[in-house]
Amino acid sequence: MTVTNHHSWQSLPAAQQPDWPDPQALRTALADLASYPPLVFAGECDQLRARLGAVARGEAFLLQGGDCAEAFDGVSAEHIRSKLKTLLQMAAVLTYAASVPVVKVGRIAGQYSKPRSKPTETRDGITLPVYRGDSVNGFEFTPESRRPDPERLKRMYNASAATLNLVRAFTTGGYADLRQVHAWNQDFVRNSPAGQRYERLAKEIDNALSFMQACGVAPEEFKTVEFFSSHEALVLDYETALTRVDSRTGELYDVSGHMVWIGERTRQLDGAHIEFASKIRNPIGVKLGPTTTVDEALTLIERLDPQREPGRLTFITRMGAGKVRDHLPTLVEKVTASGAQPVWICDPMHGNTFEAETGHKTRRFDDVLDEVKGFFEVHRGLGTHPGGIHVELTGDDVTECVGGGDEVMVDDLHQRYETACDPRLNRSQSLDLAFLVAEMYRG
Ligand code: PEP
Ligand code: MN
Repeated sequence: MTVTNHHSWQSLPAAQQPDWPDPQALRTALADLASYPPLVFAGECDQLRARLGAVARGEAFLLQGGDCAEAFDGVSAEHIRSKLKTLLQMAAVLTYAASVPVVKVGRIAGQYSKPRSKPTETRDGITLPVYRGDSVNGFEFTPESRRPDPERLKRMYNASAATLNLVRAFTTGGYADLRQVHAWNQDFVRNSPAGQRYERLAKEIDNALSFMQACGVAPEEFKTVEFFSSHEALVLDYETALTRVDSRTGELYDVSGHMVWIGERTRQLDGAHIEFASKIRNPIGVKLGPTTTVDEALTLIERLDPQREPGRLTFITRMGAGKVRDHLPTLVEKVTASGAQPVWICDPMHGNTFEAETGHKTRRFDDVLDEVKGFFEVHRGLGTHPGGIHVELTGDDVTECVGGGDEVMVDDLHQRYETACDPRLNRSQSLDLAFLVAEMYRG
């Protein structure tokens, strides 16, 4: 084990790191973490890289989604199952409409750390450290809860392990059989106002499945699902403790998740996060906001994907509905002209957040949809592949984003506003989006 090795990224400035009050407690927690077994295998990361290679070439579509911030108290069978169910239902619709494989990646089993715009939060004249995710401190607004505690990094590992264990059981144990997933979609179409608009598409899928059944086709692929985990690689001490040398190849892998991404606030070219990402072999995502320059994008490719390996690098663009049609074309055009072929996916969430009159941080379903539309238009116009979507969602009936077929109004937001960070699409809004993106994909 290479616990004591000093890695190149550890001497560079790292943005958004917690201010741990007790260095000795941190060292102890990290030493424990470094001795724990991997959460994912290097070979699985390679498998995902190969799948994403197909996305880069235009032969597959990527669906990446899950909570903005997972929470330790969300690690329950019911919660994980409903999130997974929603993702699989979305994937089934997209697979049919796109007629290509859909690569399924959860923001799950490790999405416990959040970058924040301010280091502190003030309420009623009291200032405390900001909540940085369950991996660092507690959501509750008290001095005890907001104090960063490195023991939480171990809880993050355990929560990730428990989640991944259940995800693996669900996806390989027959629970996620495509015919079952389709039946859930039929329920959505039959029983909700949002779903009724998609009766035709659901009927087409039903016919396709019946036809295969009649022909005696019952492929093994119907019974099990390939599903991958991902999270933002934010707290570098945690990611470093889970970065190991792969015995097959001698290369470094971050075995905390299959894919990790670098966020909009930590993608500095001379910073520790990009250096870290450049040294591991996992598939890497990078968020690109509306201020991204062509030079930055090209340098990121140089740093993270010098071999131009399809599937190695995913650009997750999050421009905002009002900006995507202006800002994205030049980036895509110049990157393509450079000979690079990253995966391009659309995060229609983070450029469209605003504060409602009620004080809730929210997003409009129509803005989310419009950014995806703009993303498709830009790629179609340039002849590049709109490779997928990256969304914040939950399987629960929360009221955090406004709009959608079963319309959530601003005045409903308080009813079930449960997110620990950003507003998520609820179950119905997520399925609604999948059907609409499916229609978009078919042109
Ligand atoms: C996120 O994905 O939750 C996030 C913070 O995104 P971004 O880095 O794009 O702001
Ligand atoms: Mn978020």
